[in-house]
Amino acid sequence: MAAVNLTLQQRPAADPSVDHEIQAIVAGASASETCNTDLAAGPWDFDIRPGYGPGASMGDVIPTGAPRQGELPAAYREASDEELEGRIQAAKRTLGDRVVILGHFYQREEVVTHADYVGDSFQLANAALEHPDAEAIVFCGVHFMAETADLLSRPEQAVILPNLAAGCSMADMADIDQVEECWEQLAEVYGDMDTPDAEGKLPVIPVTYMNSSAAIKGFVGRHGGIVCTSSNARTVLEWAFERGRRVLFFPDQHLGRNTAKAMGVPLDEMPMWNPHRPFGGSDEATLTRARVILWHGFCSVHRRFSVDQITQARAEHPGVRVIVHPECPMPVVDAADESGSTDYIRKAIEAADEPTTFAIGTEINLVQRLAAQHPQHTIFCLDPVVCPCSTMYRIHPGYLAWVLEGLVEGRVHNRITVPQDVADPARVALERMLAAKPPAGRLEQPAGTTS
Ligand code: SF4
Repeated sequence: MAAVNLTLQQRPAADPSVDHEIQAIVAGASASETCNTDLAAGPWDFDIRPGYGPGASMGDVIPTGAPRQGELPAAYREASDEELEGRIQAAKRTLGDRVVILGHFYQREEVVTHADYVGDSFQLANAALEHPDAEAIVFCGVHFMAETADLLSRPEQAVILPNLAAGCSMADMADIDQVEECWEQLAEVYGDMDTPDAEGKLPVIPVTYMNSSAAIKGFVGRHGGIVCTSSNARTVLEWAFERGRRVLFFPDQHLGRNTAKAMGVPLDEMPMWNPHRPFGGSDEATLTRARVILWHGFCSVHRRFSVDQITQARAEHPGVRVIVHPECPMPVVDAADESGSTDYIRKAIEAADEPTTFAIGTEINLVQRLAAQHPQHTIFCLDPVVCPCSTMYRIHPGYLAWVLEGLVEGRVHNRITVPQDVADPARVALERMLAAKPPAGRLEQPAGTTS
């Protein structure tokens, strides 16, 4: 990316661009801090290196077989921001209705500006359904999101992920081989996993967060389980408890714990399953007592938020309204005023009639965009360090221009396809989620809201 070289004075008051912010920090024109100055470089600098790239946490260990992105042609790496913008717009004009561009809330502003739809992963997959005649769906998000769009789109439609290195470290924490092994070990404790007891309940119902691979969704579908989002997790857990003695929840321990705790499940009935230890590091008595077995997964972005940050926000901004995402650790959710999905956060801000100060615990690209869209409010990220999601960052206008111009020339780059034997049970698990309803009288956000 060409350097922006903006000074503090030149920068607009509410610039939503996190890239600009990071470049200003690196140039010494901003007093803010970033978690990694390499974030000012183009993502192609990291495509040939293993790892999640700049901004990833020490806890993010990329799987050996994770997709790698080949070298982006120089014409795209060396183009200025203005040139890339012009090329994307021209390709979009040429392609017209043949292509739909989806942009996740956590994408950089320079990509989101070209999106036909902006939302969370499930909203975007559903938005693609409204364009059954589009030949290509360009998903500016991460790998599991493109897989979900492929599950829900027509077989002839090509779902494209502009940079194959845009994985999700949390989704990668639940590997299908580890999950299969976990299931076998649980069968040693609980007996036949497929036979209901006298009350018609199975020993374990597997529940996976939307932020998981298609292989995990397929596993869940094959074993009587279900998918959840961050807004319907409670309804889904209720669905699971109607059918099973306990739940195996992956990959995000925090969403599982926060949701089950709010439902009254005691913490000592929620053991953690560490896939690197026999029986997840638990003993038979603990597993027998368990109501929710939590997979040892987490989101590195949401794990950055802390109770100290909330304390500081309250001290510096009396009356501040603190809203955090349920992927944050339990003490952070407990200390906040509210917790909810990206869509919940967005709607809470939109619904505030009076000028309000919001401290938000979710990814910085969304927070800065909300701040720019709502100048009547003061909106800031709880984490003072500018640290965007390291895998969302891998999507850059250079890759978007490359895949779009490829389509114009009749070439499909980076198509994401879920094999049929995985797709069929994964769709079953998604359909169960769509059919699950909260009990009469309790309102819930629409099913399609996740991180
Ligand atoms: S914010 Fe967290 S869960 Fe979302 S894509 Fe990034 S690493 Fe994955």
